[in-house]
Amino acid sequence: MKTRFLVAAVVALGGCAPLTRHVVRAPDQRLFDGGGYRIERCDASYVGVFADCTLSGSGPRQVLRANLISGDRLYLGGSLTIGPDGRIEAAGCAVPDIADAVVLDCPGALVSAGFINLHEHIDYSYQQPAQPPVHRWKHRNEWRRLHAAERGFEGDAPADAGVRADVSERAMLRHALSGTTSLSGAKEFRAFVRNLGLAEAPLGTPAGLPIADSTFPLDDGASMEKLAASCTAAEAGAVHADPERPFLAHVGEGTDASARYEVDCLLRAVAGKSTPNAFIHGVAISSRQIPQLARQDVAVVLSPRSNFRLYAATAPVIELKNAGVTLGLGTDWAPSGSLTLLDEARCLSRYSRDSLHGRLGAADVHRMMTAGGARAVGLQGQVGALAPAEWADLVLLDTEGRRSLAEVLERSALPQIIAVAIGGRLASAPSSWAGRLPQLENCGVDPRRLCGTERLVCGVDGGRSLTALLQQAAYTIDDTRLCHPQPTDDCVARRSP
Ligand SMILES: [Zn+2]
Repeated sequence: MKTRFLVAAVVALGGCAPLTRHVVRAPDQRLFDGGGYRIERCDASYVGVFADCTLSGSGPRQVLRANLISGDRLYLGGSLTIGPDGRIEAAGCAVPDIADAVVLDCPGALVSAGFINLHEHIDYSYQQPAQPPVHRWKHRNEWRRLHAAERGFEGDAPADAGVRADVSERAMLRHALSGTTSLSGAKEFRAFVRNLGLAEAPLGTPAGLPIADSTFPLDDGASMEKLAASCTAAEAGAVHADPERPFLAHVGEGTDASARYEVDCLLRAVAGKSTPNAFIHGVAISSRQIPQLARQDVAVVLSPRSNFRLYAATAPVIELKNAGVTLGLGTDWAPSGSLTLLDEARCLSRYSRDSLHGRLGAADVHRMMTAGGARAVGLQGQVGALAPAEWADLVLLDTEGRRSLAEVLERSALPQIIAVAIGGRLASAPSSWAGRLPQLENCGVDPRRLCGTERLVCGVDGGRSLTALLQQAAYTIDDTRLCHPQPTDDCVARRSP
């Protein structure tokens, strides 16, 4: 208020240019660069410091004080109130005076909506080749035809059902620990995060309408044929898209004409379908197809790391954003994708730095991880924005004194993730918080002290014990890789060798 008065006074007096320039520079942007989110200054002492959380009070409600991304705003020293039902009651600068609440006060921390990972093959996501594949292909059915040795990576789920369950839950744990609260492509598993393909509480989709996902909407899974032309009305009509459910399909995974025909086919197949539709990958999307995606309100879910490794290209993300297409993000699978959604976001940011069409701001990338992902599958108003009435699916990160969202996202890995909650209940947190805040069932302390922190991990009631899951030694990725951001050297477009 004082600053605004000063600006007004300087303008009124026709003050000299240097002083005016100095005063009108957005003061809150200096405190923290929101990367495109509007900054609201509630309490500036919450920025520029390492996270330091204290718990006080008790009761069925929760009040969380920290830097807070809610909707399109980033509140410095904001406040989030969570009701007894796990839904958000209020978000903003005002600190509620509630007697029956436990207060988690975290200067230096940042609260975001939990990450929404819209593309994963959970039972395939247990191994990574020592080196990324050398070859680049123009269509997925090219590498799918090859043996593992030829293409450079294994690409099968374990045949044994017990091992399959173990590797899937371990992969889910990896996502849960790194801030993801909703996952698509999790098959029948739902140990630690919401499985958006299941309707049942507590860790199913919050909408009640599970996503129908399809890896082979044109039914080329077994034939591995490629389209020689855009499909006929009959072929488009043969695509099974349940009119009642959000539809999330692999489309245009490659760079050749065949992959591009798939985009036309699927646009035709979902024309007139009134429930949400989203295309995974969309590497082949052409500038001609972008306006049609926008007109039909079809979202695109990118998996850039996997796309760069397999096709040396990814979807035209800036042009899609400029056309108003809803965008989401997904990790695909460990053989060619990212281990965490944060790593996937870094990959996209790295690519965007080289784009000739403009750059993505930190808020653009963050939206793809949260509100954009939610909207892509019709979950806006349920999760993704930390807005009143939404479920309190959230992640609490240590800013480590950084003053920009871009830097926080660039540097955050498991050590920076303080806690994750789903529906207002802890999925992971420092072990000292156990019993102090509402938590999911089936809790255990991770005995590995991963990245030097003793963590409480909670999941679904009746799930297997954490210890038993962690004893799975074979077929698992070394979780210590989560302690550092993964390199982004391969997140650039390039020609096939
Ligand atoms: Zn996939």
